[in-house]
Amino acid sequence: MSRLDRLYIGTNTKMFKTASEAGEHIARLNELTRDIDDSRMTLFVIPSYTSLAQAVKVRGRVKIGAQNMGWEERGQFTGEISPLMLSELGVDMVMVGHSERRHVLHETDEEEQKKVACALGHGFTVLLCVGETLRQKEHNISDEVLAIQLKIGLELVRPEQLDRVMVAYEPVWAIGTAGIPADENYADARHAGIKDTLCGMFGEPGRDVPVLYGGSVNRGNCEPLIRKSNIDGLFIGRSAWDADNFSEIIHTVLPLFENRR
Ligand code: PEP
Repeated sequence: MSRLDRLYIGTNTKMFKTASEAGEHIARLNELTRDIDDSRMTLFVIPSYTSLAQAVKVRGRVKIGAQNMGWEERGQFTGEISPLMLSELGVDMVMVGHSERRHVLHETDEEEQKKVACALGHGFTVLLCVGETLRQKEHNISDEVLAIQLKIGLELVRPEQLDRVMVAYEPVWAIGTAGIPADENYADARHAGIKDTLCGMFGEPGRDVPVLYGGSVNRGNCEPLIRKSNIDGLFIGRSAWDADNFSEIIHTVLPLFENRR
């Protein structure tokens, strides 16, 4: 059985939801997805740092991720959270390189590389986010930009760690309240390019790395997106923050995803 036989679907709650709100969201998601066997999908929620302890407590079938991580175990890094701190909480995964970290907080590919290597070294699953800006898209260099982000971000990944790597393709222009969702054909073509880059880096095992689409996914566009053969899952912001809405998206896309086989 390949890693890609299951659907990957999750949400980043950004700087929304307090610990109690995140706990309620995750508990409700567990309730609403009770009918879905664990073997059919990996469901994850990435809440803010202060919600992680509560999220882990109520996680059930939901994998819990951190939105960021410092790349050293300890040191003079005021405001950073180390892998040891996340490990102690029992967090499952770490997201690296979200567009807001890259473009609002000015993180570089070299910093993402250090975070990826450190998170994998501490046993976490890593979700590396990549995506081109509108300007880069207009210059017709999206695939090149994605390849650079992947080649630097994942450069230190050892072959035996690859089964803990996931990629989210999130075009910067598609994310958030001002975002315009990517057309499914455009997204599928970028996913194909990402898969080629991963293959070039890691050989055939690179094909098994799940590549999720993110950027203004909602109940209206989730169907055409998940019908695309290179889209292995969805990474959702706003439309997943209400557990009932998220559950409707999950129940819509899961059978469509399984019917692609
Ligand atoms: C995100 O921030 O990763 C995201 C995909 O957000 P939204 O779905 O709200 O565009």
